[in-house]
Amino acid sequence: MPIATSLPDDPRFDLICVGSGFASTFFLVDYLRRAGPRARVLVLERGRHNSHEWQIENRRNSHIDWNDAYVRQGDPKKDWRFTIGFGGGSNCWFGQTPRMMPSDFRMKSLYGVGEDWPLSYEDLEPFYQEAEEIMMVAGSSEDSPFKRSGPYPQPPHRFNGADRLLKQAYPNHHFAMPTVRARVDTRNRPPCCANGVCDLCPVDAKFTIQNELMGLFEDPRVVLLLEAEALEVETQGNIVTGVRYRFQGREHLAEGDLVVVGANALFSPFLLMRSGIRHPRLGRRLYEAASLRAEIFLDGVDCFDGSTLTTGLNYAAYEGPHRRERGTFTIETWNLGPLRVDYGKWRSVLHVYITIEDLPQEQNRVVLSSEDPSKPVAVFEGYSPYLHRGVEAVKAEVPRIMARLPLEKVTFRDKLGQNGGHIQGTVMMGDDPETSVVDRHLIHHTLRNLLVLGASAFPTGPCANPTLTLCALSLWSARHVMTS
Ligand SMILES: Cc1cc2nc3c(=O)[nH]c(=O)nc-3n(C[C@H](O)[C@H](O)[C@H](O)COP(=O)(O)OP(=O)(O)OC[C@H]3O[C@@H](n4cnc5c(N)ncnc54)[C@H](O)[C@@H]3O)c2cc1C
Ligand code: SF4
Repeated sequence: MPIATSLPDDPRFDLICVGSGFASTFFLVDYLRRAGPRARVLVLERGRHNSHEWQIENRRNSHIDWNDAYVRQGDPKKDWRFTIGFGGGSNCWFGQTPRMMPSDFRMKSLYGVGEDWPLSYEDLEPFYQEAEEIMMVAGSSEDSPFKRSGPYPQPPHRFNGADRLLKQAYPNHHFAMPTVRARVDTRNRPPCCANGVCDLCPVDAKFTIQNELMGLFEDPRVVLLLEAEALEVETQGNIVTGVRYRFQGREHLAEGDLVVVGANALFSPFLLMRSGIRHPRLGRRLYEAASLRAEIFLDGVDCFDGSTLTTGLNYAAYEGPHRRERGTFTIETWNLGPLRVDYGKWRSVLHVYITIEDLPQEQNRVVLSSEDPSKPVAVFEGYSPYLHRGVEAVKAEVPRIMARLPLEKVTFRDKLGQNGGHIQGTVMMGDDPETSVVDRHLIHHTLRNLLVLGASAFPTGPCANPTLTLCALSLWSARHVMTS
């Protein structure tokens, strides 16, 4: 990889990307395809390149501890997890890649709550398809909850025994979990062997930017500067002129015609705010869905014979007018978890992970700190009553859903899970410049050569894991920029 170890001679670039995670990299995929042979791209990445071997040896994804990179405020003090390093969260992610449902884009018009997205499922569908092809997602093409224009590139993983029964009971609502944990080997990856330690996958079976998209950074048009932290976006009137950054202990300025900020939903708004860019909604609506775990005790069902970490995704209670009143939920079935402590029934317990939707709250936000200007402050004042009503519904409905299986009992964990690493909101997209920071193509409403990519743009936070959607949005944005 042509990693620049010294400053580039010429500080002028056609494109400057902040961050080398999913958001920037999927933009680059399309940009490099369409840009001319003399295009110059600078990627500023705050972290190091920690190879897969380094990560396994050191039992961590980055040399920078995510815990120390921001300040928590609020009661309770909520964690927001991420990876600082080349490839960003692709190093630590678990690789679940469901699409959002069409209704998730239209919460306001269908249910009178939240916001509508400024684009529809149909608008994004070709870009979902393309993102799935790039990541080589394994899923069931014939039996998918999502209206698709093409097949999944890899076959689905094998269900476990409980999934097979759930499929019989809910043929239209229980599906194989789409995932980038390889079902069959790719040129660079072996198949997943269901160990379930995917943040540090020992065999490198899940898609990461390192193992499948390194070629982009070997393109002679691209300069990747590691341990280069963007400090400010420079503006002149309504134009962005470049990015000020720190590299090897000194500050430098790179000039760019187009600037893409893809630093995630904590650091992207932080960078904009540090640059003096203001909007009433900038930093607001910091969000991630909550989760509840449960054990489903079954009679005589093997719940550990699937071929990957999570095998099923259940939408039995997802759609419907209840979303006017409370968060809806999906049920992920796991092929992993502690065995049962009943003689002869060791494998007859299904571990499930239930994701519950909330509506992003204005008061949960990223702000600047007067004490330590080098770190964003993530203020979290709690989930809404909409979410808590959703949690009550989960406790009533999950036993009812599971009753179609040979059910013995359901036990719920006491505590809500709040740290899935799915950081969203803070630089909302929309058609109205008064109420949103970026437009439907993720271009800043006023600074028209500035793009802010990633899940920071999401107007609502549905149950689907966010990364596939944010990658599709980066492709959608790049296509617009490069063809309009
Ligand atoms: C443990 C874990 C498991 C997860 N599993 C899943 C999953 O199964 N499915 C799913 O959909 N999502 C999952 N996620 C979420 C997923 O990782 C994120 O949605 C995704 O990484 C966001 O992509 P991004 O490019 O917007 O940001 P990131 O991946 O966070 O990339 C941002 C990049 O910007 C760099 N950066 C930040 N600030 C600066 C700066 N000032 N200057 C230069 N560079 C900067 C960072 O170092 C980083 O490389 C998981 C997250 C975690 C933590
Ligand atoms: S389940 Fe195991 S092999 Fe599969 S991706 Fe996760 S860690 Fe890797």
